[in-house]
Amino acid sequence: MQIFSPNMLKVYEECPKKYEYRYVQKFNVPQSKGVFEKGKKIHALAHYYLRGDDIQKLLAALTDDEYLVWKSLLNNEYFQKNYVNSEYNLTTKVGDFWIGGRLDAFMKSDNNYFILDYKTGAVPKNPSEDYQTMVYLICANEVLAKGWGNNYSLSFVYIDLKNNQNHKITFDTEKKTHYYMVLENACKKITTTRNFLKNQNRCNFCEYSKFCH
Ligand code: SF4
Repeated sequence: MQIFSPNMLKVYEECPKKYEYRYVQKFNVPQSKGVFEKGKKIHALAHYYLRGDDIQKLLAALTDDEYLVWKSLLNNEYFQKNYVNSEYNLTTKVGDFWIGGRLDAFMKSDNNYFILDYKTGAVPKNPSEDYQTMVYLICANEVLAKGWGNNYSLSFVYIDLKNNQNHKITFDTEKKTHYYMVLENACKKITTTRNFLKNQNRCNFCEYSKFCH
């Protein structure tokens, strides 16, 4: 069963050829470890902390800079809400297609639910129209709708750890209709593609540039 993740949808939009390399041919180019290292450590730490595990060894392995980022997450108002789940895999159907992803954390306060996404790098330029926002909100809403009827609120919060800011997107029926439409169209476009075209405006930032002719 093919499950479309936010990254798959993003990559296809960026360059269909890149999508073909990465997700059809499954040709992965190793990328420099340093770029993702801080983010990985913070995500792992947050997950173990929220689960109630002992994080002393992980804390001791942080650099000074990483420790400051961790403190900023610990003090974040949304990270301090009540824990529901973390590294939470969710899938659901939009039309004929499956979509899904892994939420950094799912928190609550009474019947108000929050999907958290920690960003040690850049936050999307238009957070409410980002595929990650759309996929996660649609998936989490399906789970809540099964158990809670209409008696809940749901938001997506990007926690920008670089600038100590939150970007919150509140889900509503208007967004739901819009997101279903956008996601279904995006999946349809990929599955009906016969020829994965190149978008040569993006080559300077692409890990496949050495191999793509
Ligand atoms: S090098 Fe350019 S055309 Fe080739 S996959 Fe990357 S972005 Fe697309």
